[in-house]
Amino acid sequence: MMAKCLGGEMASLLFMAALALNLARSAADFLPVQWGPQSTAGPAEAADHILIESYESDPRHLTTQELGSLIESDLASLGSLSIGTVGSGILLNAVPMPSSPAWEIVNPEESWGTAETIDFIQIAIAKVRELYPESPPLGIGDISLPPGGTLNRHATHQAGRDVDLGFFYMKGKGWWLAPGNSRNLDLPRNWALVRSLLALTDVERILLDWRIQKLIYQYAVSIGEDRDWLDRVFQFSKGVKEAVIQHVKGHLTHYHVRFYSLRAQELGRRAYPHLLRLKKINPPVFTVSHRVRSGETLSSLARRYGTSVRSIQKANSLSGSLVVAGRTYRIPCKGVAAPPGDRLSLPARLIPPLTPQQLAAVDWPGAPPVLGLNQEKLSSFR
Ligand SMILES: [Zn+2]
Repeated sequence: MMAKCLGGEMASLLFMAALALNLARSAADFLPVQWGPQSTAGPAEAADHILIESYESDPRHLTTQELGSLIESDLASLGSLSIGTVGSGILLNAVPMPSSPAWEIVNPEESWGTAETIDFIQIAIAKVRELYPESPPLGIGDISLPPGGTLNRHATHQAGRDVDLGFFYMKGKGWWLAPGNSRNLDLPRNWALVRSLLALTDVERILLDWRIQKLIYQYAVSIGEDRDWLDRVFQFSKGVKEAVIQHVKGHLTHYHVRFYSLRAQELGRRAYPHLLRLKKINPPVFTVSHRVRSGETLSSLARRYGTSVRSIQKANSLSGSLVVAGRTYRIPCKGVAAPPGDRLSLPARLIPPLTPQQLAAVDWPGAPPVLGLNQEKLSSFR
């Protein structure tokens, strides 16, 4: 029997199961974050400006019919759409990462994302600079290509929701992709960045080597952050399976950050059938993971999944025809599966404890707490 390529749907089911454990958020929670008075100009102002522009008119309320005719007549007016999954996705009306003295974009042609992703990156960096005005520019690596889809050697980065962010290093101790360690990492700034991503953005995952997790975790403990909260967000300490910050090999040199894009994903999900019908997109190539058993070959895999030897080779950067038993390969299946059919609901943000005592306990050197809360704001957070 021929196996079906259900990559997108399977991923979606797992994803929804993970989400079910968390509280669902309402659309109202997706309002731009409240900023305290800005101590720095530039990136923070830019972020506010973009937030207003992208969320002012929200096309998610359109009926199916209205959506269809808008896609036909004025696709650009919908703003960015993210379709499928990060491992096999499409991006439409992508937003480029703007340039700023606050960051340095490594590959501008590969730095396109959903409006949310581009906003969230700026929000997090702006907060670091609000706390530490004298910060060096942060390196920003690949996000996605303008149309999404396969990007270089990456398995993900296909739907405008992934970004590789550099570390903050101590002065003269390192730059883009220098492996981090206790001697070169600027821990206060790295912690401010991670904390901002957790508290101020819809972050889904931060992939980070154990060794870097340990350094940042220990720093956070040393300034009085709440240990229970830290243990829920870092996989390093208690091995929590669903921790936002997870170890994946290859992340000793940078953060891989994945964001939810509520608007772009939900709109992408609803727009997908219209886009196909109107031939605005080709069906995305969905991939499934397959662990090779002994006796299986490239051609048997191609037959089994109804694809070609060549496309399996391409998806796995194989030059020869050999597959190794026990190893997992990506099998691309063109347009067989539809993108996730379920509505995206965001899990609750894991924000740090916000009692006045806990806020007062955190010792941010020479800077206010990361959320910049006063008593009045604090009560509105509860
Ligand atoms: Zn990455």
